[in-house]
Amino acid sequence: MSSEQNPLIKVENLRKYFPVKGTNPLQKKKYVQAVESVSFNIYRGETLGIVGESGCGKTTLGRTILRLYEPTSGKIIYDGAPIYDSEKKIAVKMLPYRRKMQIIFQDPSASLDPRMTVGEIVGEALDIHKLYSSKKERSERINELLDKVGLNTEHANRFPPEFSGGQQQRVGIARALAVDPEFIVCDEPISALDVSIQSQVVNMLEDLQAENHLTYLFIAHDISVVRHISNRIGVMYLGQMVELADSYELCSKPVHPYTRTLLSAVPLPDPIKSRSRQRILLEGEIPSPLNPPSGCRFHTRCPYATDRCREECPELREQSPGHFVACHL
Ligand code: SF4
Repeated sequence: MSSEQNPLIKVENLRKYFPVKGTNPLQKKKYVQAVESVSFNIYRGETLGIVGESGCGKTTLGRTILRLYEPTSGKIIYDGAPIYDSEKKIAVKMLPYRRKMQIIFQDPSASLDPRMTVGEIVGEALDIHKLYSSKKERSERINELLDKVGLNTEHANRFPPEFSGGQQQRVGIARALAVDPEFIVCDEPISALDVSIQSQVVNMLEDLQAENHLTYLFIAHDISVVRHISNRIGVMYLGQMVELADSYELCSKPVHPYTRTLLSAVPLPDPIKSRSRQRILLEGEIPSPLNPPSGCRFHTRCPYATDRCREECPELREQSPGHFVACHL
């Protein structure tokens, strides 16, 4: 993806803090700093993968871009138009953007209402956005969407608990596609599924992307999954983006110590090479986003940390064309 191309989505210094309930009103209010000053672009037609340990803020980032969570500060620009800008006090109504920006949730069993039929679930978005002119057109559209995700028309009258996890996720994908979106946040869409059907769902998402000219933000904790589907990958640690590059470049020439750690845990296809490779183990637990470390947030676990790292937060800088890294080294 060329950096000269206009991005579909531009995120600048995005922050999302959650207030902590139950803190003493006489004390200073505490916040979970889930996303801290994150900036990047997503280009039309690409898949940008986001990886990091659980709790690193990747899901919050995806939901904040869609404004399912209201940002704390920063800027989100969609196709050249600001949908949120804390400095200019812009926070547009999102209903028209819900047609363009959709989400596929991690756990399909939790994200589908068990009391609604599949037809009602998929048709709800058509109703909200008034995307049909007759009942017949509505039901044809539902059938077409079910067909697109590998389900059949009889499934429209059944309820989510009657389906397997993989089929439920297909319903979730059909629901996201119902409004004919341009951009979809795929929030760990396969992590709740059996390994045997994960690749089927990933392949289907790739086919749908090609057919419908979709742009994806693909969130996962497993870099080997993200590497397969993404054009570029962003690595997050404790609410911040620490490295962002073309997938091949990031996986073959990782620069940030945290990215190197993630990659050292990915099994290699060759068992001899896999056994001889040294796995980098991080010491200590991931710190709390309620009270993140000073300076570089990774310094408490980084084997190369210096005094500067403890004091000064490294900026995400372009180290080689298209390869961004936040590290003092
Ligand atoms: Fe490690 Fe320092 Fe780089 Fe942070 S800035 S990753 S602590 S070397």
